[in-house]
Amino acid sequence: MMKTQVLTNTTGTETEINPFRVYHFGKVQNDGNASMRNLLGGKGANLAEMSSIGIPVPPGFTIPTSMCTHYNDNQQQLADALMIEVDEAITLMEQQTATEFGSLENPLLVSVRSGARVSMPGMMDTVLNLGLTDIAVIGLANKTNNARMAYDSYRRFIVMYSEVVKGMDAEAFEELIDAAKSKAGVSEDTGLSVEDLKELCLELKKLYTELSGDEFPQDPKIQLRSAIEAVFDSWNTERAVLYRKIQNIPASWGTAVNVQAMVFGNKGASSATGVAFTRNPSTGDKTYFGEYLINAQGEDVVAGVRTPLPISKESAAQKCLDGQSMEETMPKTYVELTDVFEKLEKHYADMQDVEFTVEEEKLYILQTRNGKRSGFAQVRMAVEMVEEGLVDEKTALARIEPSSIEQMLSPIFNLEDKANAASEMVGKGLNAGPGAASGVLALTSAKAIEYKQLGVPCVLVRNDTSPADFGGMMAAEGVLTVRGGATSHAAVVARQFGKPCVCGLAALKVKESTGEISIGDKKIKEGDAISLDGSTGEVFFCKIETSASEVIQGIIDGVIDPNESEICKQYQTIMTWADKYRRLKIRTNADTSRDLKIALSLGAEGVGLTRVEHMFGSDDKLLLLRQVMLAKDEQIKTLALSNIEHFLKEDFTALFQTLNGRPATVRLLDPPMHEFMPHGDADTAKTAKALKITDAELRASLGDMEEHNPMLGFRGCRLGILKPELTRVQVRAILEAALELNSAYIPCKPEIMVPIIMHENELIHQRTLIDKVAQDLFAELGQKVSYSVGTMIELPRAALQADEIAKHADFFSFGTNDLTQTTLGISRDDANHFLPTYKNGVSDPLTGTGNFEVYPDDPFQTLDQSGVGKLVQLGVKGGRSTSKDLKIGICGEHGGDPASIDFFHRNGLDYVSCSPFRVPVARLSAALSAIRAEEVE
Ligand code: ADP
Ligand code: MG
Ligand code: MG
Repeated sequence: MMKTQVLTNTTGTETEINPFRVYHFGKVQNDGNASMRNLLGGKGANLAEMSSIGIPVPPGFTIPTSMCTHYNDNQQQLADALMIEVDEAITLMEQQTATEFGSLENPLLVSVRSGARVSMPGMMDTVLNLGLTDIAVIGLANKTNNARMAYDSYRRFIVMYSEVVKGMDAEAFEELIDAAKSKAGVSEDTGLSVEDLKELCLELKKLYTELSGDEFPQDPKIQLRSAIEAVFDSWNTERAVLYRKIQNIPASWGTAVNVQAMVFGNKGASSATGVAFTRNPSTGDKTYFGEYLINAQGEDVVAGVRTPLPISKESAAQKCLDGQSMEETMPKTYVELTDVFEKLEKHYADMQDVEFTVEEEKLYILQTRNGKRSGFAQVRMAVEMVEEGLVDEKTALARIEPSSIEQMLSPIFNLEDKANAASEMVGKGLNAGPGAASGVLALTSAKAIEYKQLGVPCVLVRNDTSPADFGGMMAAEGVLTVRGGATSHAAVVARQFGKPCVCGLAALKVKESTGEISIGDKKIKEGDAISLDGSTGEVFFCKIETSASEVIQGIIDGVIDPNESEICKQYQTIMTWADKYRRLKIRTNADTSRDLKIALSLGAEGVGLTRVEHMFGSDDKLLLLRQVMLAKDEQIKTLALSNIEHFLKEDFTALFQTLNGRPATVRLLDPPMHEFMPHGDADTAKTAKALKITDAELRASLGDMEEHNPMLGFRGCRLGILKPELTRVQVRAILEAALELNSAYIPCKPEIMVPIIMHENELIHQRTLIDKVAQDLFAELGQKVSYSVGTMIELPRAALQADEIAKHADFFSFGTNDLTQTTLGISRDDANHFLPTYKNGVSDPLTGTGNFEVYPDDPFQTLDQSGVGKLVQLGVKGGRSTSKDLKIGICGEHGGDPASIDFFHRNGLDYVSCSPFRVPVARLSAALSAIRAEEVE
């Protein structure tokens, strides 16, 4: 049993509240508001909020999310105390609407709707028209004088109840509906007459009885109870669990249940139902964007059963549907609707996603929430809402997901290629999710996942998608559907996850049985190439090369003028704001001045990691390293060292020049040297010759170098300690390059970084050596340059001993890749044998079934905060305990991961360093962390 909660209200007085209570919404009694989303779910909280600002909402009540948890903690039993509350609430609704459950004169009908804290599109199931029985349907027909509507509602209810509440297979019911349509000789369900519908209801109930062995329930209270259970149960369906996993939503949040008086969009030509956004969610354009269906109910629009019509005159005209928009067919209601849009946008200060129903010209709003939008739209709306004065910069920024910036940088079709593919263009659907996708055809979610696992890019094509297709959509490069509009399930999910998506390509025929799709006389089969442009809606039966995005073209390649491109300008604005609010500096990992130039134009403020080993890219440079490591002849070795010094100096000069005074961290040679040694007979023979030794001698030396576990072997500072000549040439090259720049009045103060330290003596050794080399060089050249010496923290012992190590370091840089490998004891290169399975789950050791999740994330992608993160914290604390102003950064893969960046921000690092194309994401992430941290304070 749950204990009574004690709540402290704002005045500090304690009030006891009944934990089993429900929360009413509507004009007469309104208990909730938008701030109560954790308790009431997003839908329930906003229904109450809308009621309170005078927006027409049918009355009802919300069973709070805490009851879902209670239900699940109590063997899926609804508490009696709760059901007493529900009964009382129904009585209140009956009084308010002058109706009665199951009545022959005036039946109360309700919808039972789920609603979690965050919206989970299509994940939870809704039951409409609950309360209809053989008696109530007569009551509804009489009361409304609309028998057609009454029986239409009843047949919908029987199907929904069977499917959603009783989990019966939808198909058999659909078949009965199709049979009724062909018997009546009509193609749409609106064509069915009252008699057809009455008969259909009988058939459907018969099927229910066949499948369940029970009569279709004739007591609305029993219907309601089962529906509430079904909503709670739907929290734990496979698809809901998968969605939560991807979105990191804890299972403990639970869903609320909303019970609401029905309004009817299926009452004839003056009734309708629709879904709309207050701005275009795909492009971000400030125009009303939505779809409606006349004489229809709720899910019809979303489910793509009939293709809905645009609400605005302008978009109808664009689609050659003149005269069919809501603006034209229901002008008065349309104006009311747009007034509501304005009111809602102002009230929530954000773009709203609104569900509405018109019952005989009377408008009702059934849901509002902050609308999901594509990455492009996130950016555009943020910029424009600040211009409009609707929100401030920080609020606007906080609404942009770092992945949107990725979307802005991701490829688009090569225009020339696309023009060449014109003859393969087979049609144009709705541009539901921007971006370009090209791959092979997959017709099922399973197939798409299979392709993904094989590393073959694919495009998922479906008649329409349901939540069951979620996995396939994630696996595919893009999604194409035959049915459904821009607010269909496919479109909503695709936009949210940045997948290019085209919807409603009605001419496309999909034959799953033969694995083919066709349009006119053009046909392709599963595995053939297909491409789609989610920004224009075009679909091609061929492969099209993709190319750089507008931002890349304008800002990096310089092939378009960024001031002429709205997208470039919006990107720049967002980045300017991000730079204004972030505290973390953003550096890049770059080894060539080409990479570095890209990173700088994307906003990098310096280099956090240059890997010297990457400068040995060509065969002749490799040979020099082999000579140093293996030559017996001292002369060969000395010459090789001086050649290395020479070319490294040139490479560093180019890099430092590009940096133009920005900081540069150069890491001394790090990898196990055998990686650079010859492999295969030909290579070995050639190398032996250059070393002036025999093949056999070389093989023997190579054999000596072999290691069982090179990752933990002779590498990092161990190389520089045992082969000081290696450190010596590198340091000379770095400092000579710096000196050269300084004499050309380009400031340069290199940061020399020593890798894989586990003991302070290792650093003391290398630092002493570096300083000695520098002094000798300065004496030799009669010139000086300042430099600093620091170390990577990438072994657990180094993090634990950070206080000692910091006494000899000017800076720390966490090498989180190796720190992750060595903390978890997992080699990155061998992890794929088990880590993906750890993540996806194995069977439960007790039951042998189910999903036992061993490790939730890929620790090489997102920092293992509770393990590796603790070492980072220790390292920061230890380092700064002996060296107060120690500069600390990170240069692992995690430097470009938003969640990890947030961790680094919170733990007081000075900078993150990431690969060039992650720099914009890192800038925004760092700003978001700073803004969040301010909010928490
Ligand atoms: P979802 O969370 O999947 O959007 P909803 O609970 O919002 O599910 O219900 C889906 C649709 O059902 C709504 O958009 C609306 O059109 C319809 N609906 C829900 N409640 C009512 C109601 N009280 N009267 C009429 N239609 C309703
Ligand atoms: Mg739904
Ligand atoms: Mg909804």
